[in-house]
Amino acid sequence: MPIYEKNIECLDRESLEALQSERLVKQVKRMYERVEVFRKRMDDLNLKPEDVHSIKDLHKLPFSNKQDLRDNYPYGLFAEPLENVVRIHASSGTTGKQIVVGYTKNDLDMWSTCVARALTSYGATKNDIVQVSYGYGLFTGGLGAHDGATKLGCTVIPASTGNTVRQMNTMVDFGSTVLCSTPSYCMYLAEELEASNLKNSLKLKRAVLGAEPWGEEMRKQIESKLSIKAYDIYGLSEILGPGVSYECECQHGLHINEDMFIAEIIDPITLEVLPDGEVGELVFSTITKEAFPVLRYRTHDLCRILTGTCKCGRTFKRMGRIEGRTDDMLIIRGVNVFPSQIEEVLLKYGQGITPNYQIIVDRVNNTDTLEVKVEMNENLFADDVKSIEKISSKIRDSLRSVLGLSALVTLVNPKTIERSEGKAKRVIDKRKIK
Ligand SMILES: [Zn+2]
Repeated sequence: MPIYEKNIECLDRESLEALQSERLVKQVKRMYERVEVFRKRMDDLNLKPEDVHSIKDLHKLPFSNKQDLRDNYPYGLFAEPLENVVRIHASSGTTGKQIVVGYTKNDLDMWSTCVARALTSYGATKNDIVQVSYGYGLFTGGLGAHDGATKLGCTVIPASTGNTVRQMNTMVDFGSTVLCSTPSYCMYLAEELEASNLKNSLKLKRAVLGAEPWGEEMRKQIESKLSIKAYDIYGLSEILGPGVSYECECQHGLHINEDMFIAEIIDPITLEVLPDGEVGELVFSTITKEAFPVLRYRTHDLCRILTGTCKCGRTFKRMGRIEGRTDDMLIIRGVNVFPSQIEEVLLKYGQGITPNYQIIVDRVNNTDTLEVKVEMNENLFADDVKSIEKISSKIRDSLRSVLGLSALVTLVNPKTIERSEGKAKRVIDKRKIK
């Protein structure tokens, strides 16, 4: 299989790491001079750009995370004046403000190179007709895939999302050979194409699937339903968009574009860097980005760096598939619990309580315990004990049916749960403190 930039993608590790070191040192200096938040964090750690000599010093640098983007909304983390920024993308999280990222011309160029490398590794060439069925707009998927396919010289169809009948007709009439979409939409299209008896009229050979986690079972089904090869592409807008890493023909892990991004796997609790092969939280540093660079950005995606070399010849390290999220997920007695689920129950219930709550997880006699403390409102507080008990037992029942787990519900007096500025500390996991 051809390789888009063999001199980089197959560079010997020693030279690659030297290149990473050189770029990291430059990026740290640049960000220290230009991004106030970063400079303050370095100063707090008594760290100067001169203390960073190579990638071996990466672990000394402060972490960054999604909250930083919200706190510095919209342009506070940019390292270039807006006159040099030629593109803005944004994504809305499940909570809070949307996050905003920017790109210079060079950034867009590097991005499209990443996607062109990916498409080439899937076997695509300039002879391909690429139907981009990711959303176009502030979401990075559509334009990211579009620019990469354009750079490779493919014929690009900017189909965007929605209107499945039109998508199918486009695919058949225009002779699309590559589909870029989310795996779930590809699966849906596969079923619809099958049902419409259009499958045999397709010229489709490959699908480039990303923007949500998916597994081998889904790959098998998509590949057999459409008689194509389906490849994974990974990215997130805070780092770049699609193309941070990509599978090769071996379909065994995603090669990280290491000349632009340094990946680390950390223990999400101790924050120590873990050796290759161990599962932990994926952390990225962007060493070539200009407008919106980040260092040690915590993705909250759980995965591992695969060990050993890849048969395709690329020397870029490979990350395994995303195995889960760390952000706020709690594992209690083996059950995955998201604080948002608890919040939803409380908000839905409403009556007699305030939206102030705290989730306390502990381990007693080797068994996890879950306690939900909720503040009563003044009315309930003034009511008799029986009414209070009735409400707490109702909340307990709702929680059990939603979580599949029993919780101790404690109604506490009004204004007794500590308020904090910014993000409320909703979860206290005492298991981690011990
Ligand atoms: Zn490979």
